[in-house]
Amino acid sequence: TSEDGASFIAKKEALGKGITVASDLVVDHANQCSITMTNGQSYLDMTSGIGVASTGHCHPTVVKAVQDQVGKMSHAQINMFYHAPLLELMDRLRPYTAPLDTFCFNNSGSEAVESAIKLARHATKKKNIIVFNGGHHGRTIGAMALTGSKNMFSAGFGPLMPGVFYVDYPYSFRCSASTFEGHSPDHCVKEIMRQLNVLLKQRCHPDDTAAILIEPVLGEGGYVPAPKGFFQELRAFCDQHKILMIADEVQTGFGRTGKMFAIEHWNTVPDIMVLAKGIASGYPLSAIVSRKELMDLQPPGSMGGTFVGNIVACTAAVATLDVFEQEHVLKNVQERSIQVFGLLEKKLSSANGASGLPESIMPLDIRGLGLMIGLEFGNAPQGFAARVVKHARDHEHLLLLTASIYETIRMIPPLVVDADTLEDSVNRLVKSIVQVANDMKNE
Ligand code: PMP
Repeated sequence: TSEDGASFIAKKEALGKGITVASDLVVDHANQCSITMTNGQSYLDMTSGIGVASTGHCHPTVVKAVQDQVGKMSHAQINMFYHAPLLELMDRLRPYTAPLDTFCFNNSGSEAVESAIKLARHATKKKNIIVFNGGHHGRTIGAMALTGSKNMFSAGFGPLMPGVFYVDYPYSFRCSASTFEGHSPDHCVKEIMRQLNVLLKQRCHPDDTAAILIEPVLGEGGYVPAPKGFFQELRAFCDQHKILMIADEVQTGFGRTGKMFAIEHWNTVPDIMVLAKGIASGYPLSAIVSRKELMDLQPPGSMGGTFVGNIVACTAAVATLDVFEQEHVLKNVQERSIQVFGLLEKKLSSANGASGLPESIMPLDIRGLGLMIGLEFGNAPQGFAARVVKHARDHEHLLLLTASIYETIRMIPPLVVDADTLEDSVNRLVKSIVQVANDMKNE
């Protein structure tokens, strides 16, 4: 199933080691939830290109809009002109982002995170940023200082941006699996609020603290939804100490969790939201959105860049919203979410009986929100999740990802996935888990 031959090996050597590629597969084309390789083999894509292809690969509405735009103009430099797709995009996004109503654009998630930090520091005239263990905010010099999902993202690249302070993410499975045995998600919320209060009192004075940056559902850190009630508490804490709340919705935004933005599950409005990934169905575009009075504190000319707000990417983003509205994508996410979590519970708890998932990989935490689906095997040997992902790819033609420093598998289907494709994927995943668990037990 892989490319081989001297020519491929010589060519792939030209890619430096800093970018890792999980397989030797070479893609040729894709359609909705299926990716076909140059060797003619097709794979079920339950990664959506790491949460990007929300409308599925090559949705006809997006393809048509992009094709029409490319023939008219591909680069309308944002410092020189307004363009209709940009103006329309902001207009169309506002009902979803309200009361946040003013935008600033970038090309990637990391860059938009940096824009959010620049805005928070400049607007508050304060410098410290509080982030969470397990959080992932990107790979640029600033963003990697804010990233606590894996040490490889920042090891050896220091000195890192100063003024960054970490507390634990409210990770109730890990809490109950370790320090807080037997305690509830409520206890987890209280514990994290305690850590934040202690941090402000001991090391990070509120008068020095510009913002708290957080993912509503931990992404690369393991697909961990924050517990019920957490963001209401965090919002009150930020208001009390005049600290801005920045929601990194790069992975959770644009319908991934069954609401347009994940923070809506907590009925909470952040001061700044960071958007990227699913915004434009695969075209590079990212943004921050905030209230006008805050955004207007940005010094003129301090934001932006050559490619930002690209006209083709904005066109794709508008077409993405068309698909969301015309095809009721959010409703599909909500329905498919109930289906997938039901199937996983049923199949993996029955696998735990007669068909035999060994005790050695338990407990199993099946968690997530919408179509962010995470499975963490509490006691599995190191490498288990990666082996399942590899097995699924090589033997079941199912594309999945791992997450976090723990044994976690994540599934990120396109948001337009249908019931049969999802069930087929779950069956292939369960087969892979049972196979690898039994292989490892017998080794
Ligand atoms: N924030 C979150 C929550 C992310 O998941 C990511 C990427 N995985 C980023 C920021 C960085 O985005 P990018 O890779 O587009 O720079």
